[in-house]
Amino acid sequence: MDKLFIKDIDARGKKVLVRVDFNVPFDDQGNISDDARIRAAMSTINYLLDENASIILASHLGRPKGKVVPEMSLGPVAKRLSRLLDKDVIFIADCIGENAKKIISEMKAGEVALLENLRFHAGEESNDPEFAREFFDLGDLFVQEAFGNCHRSHASMVGFKSDIHKAAAGFLIKKEMDYFEKAIKKPMRPVVAILGGAKVSDKVLVIENLAKSVDKLLIGGAMAFTFLKALGYDVGASLVEDSMLDTALKIVGKLKEDNVKLYLPVDFVAAERFDPEAESKIVPFQEIPAKWMALDIGPASTKLFRETLEDAKTILWNGPMGAFEMDAFSRGTYAMVDALVNSHSLTIVGGGDTDLAFHNAGESYKVSFISTGGGAFLKLLEGEGLPGIEALTDA
Ligand code: AMP
Repeated sequence: MDKLFIKDIDARGKKVLVRVDFNVPFDDQGNISDDARIRAAMSTINYLLDENASIILASHLGRPKGKVVPEMSLGPVAKRLSRLLDKDVIFIADCIGENAKKIISEMKAGEVALLENLRFHAGEESNDPEFAREFFDLGDLFVQEAFGNCHRSHASMVGFKSDIHKAAAGFLIKKEMDYFEKAIKKPMRPVVAILGGAKVSDKVLVIENLAKSVDKLLIGGAMAFTFLKALGYDVGASLVEDSMLDTALKIVGKLKEDNVKLYLPVDFVAAERFDPEAESKIVPFQEIPAKWMALDIGPASTKLFRETLEDAKTILWNGPMGAFEMDAFSRGTYAMVDALVNSHSLTIVGGGDTDLAFHNAGESYKVSFISTGGGAFLKLLEGEGLPGIEALTDA
């Protein structure tokens, strides 16, 4: 990475402002249901503690749209962080203002504070310069660690003045960028990309960019039906983006030109309706009944996809193979989880649903790397730069 790294700055005894992504999910009882994003920032927090810095953490949570929404307070996150660190965490009830300044000015070396939700101020999302100035003035140095938000040009991501603030990448950002480099820029071949999820339109740019670097592309999820329909097959009532049929055909042609082997599912679990209780059956792709929806890839597709992975040295995966939130249509996705964790290649996974599938299967620790960013990971796959990283101080 050509950006300043946390180890290049002298944080000893300084007040270090760290932008983290603590946008964690909550269950319907209001409990944090997965604290992976908090744990992902631990290397940076522990490093700064070892350097005897005072650490001021800042994050967004949910979409409060510039207003104080108590349900989106970072208070519960401060408690969980305190438990994970086994030390007190000072919770500061506003991310800017006199009170925050006063508490921070009294912080001692080795203390940790968490500011309240940045998005309680409209200036965060609009990248308001005054909000940015007040926020960045809270620290002597700035460390970017919110990979999951790096595709957004919000105040806390890009609003610092490089001539005043030194802004460095934390350990998580470096890890994300290093794995991206291994997967896309200098991969071990063959490289296989697996794409799934609902829409072709969301992933056109990803496919176009991946076509330049991967050897095989596997497409599952509802995306597959737009391709099958474009190729002239009847897909019943399965989800299709009719506006993307031409694009899908062009993509098929382009992949062929670029010598990328495209694999589409050869069978499906089809159901009478979008409902786990509905009657369902396994059908070859040519035989989806007229009014039925195909909601998962079938066992023959799973076998085919597994075989294509056998010689892979690098595997990238984004997007589920079916409507995996319903048990009846989750087998294809979990079979691919199993294929990846038993593969001897470098395995890199990204996107909320894909991450969740590994988490549900209890297999997260068996993949080489799970990106903490959904949107940011997709932007990288599209070949786009990330504003939150580009804005950092050059090395
Ligand atoms: P995305 O956000 O584009 O990654 O799409 C993820 C969503 O696609 C998940 O909620 C899945 O339930 C849904 N999905 C995947 N395959 C299918 C399918 N065959 N039919 C309907 N929905 C699907």
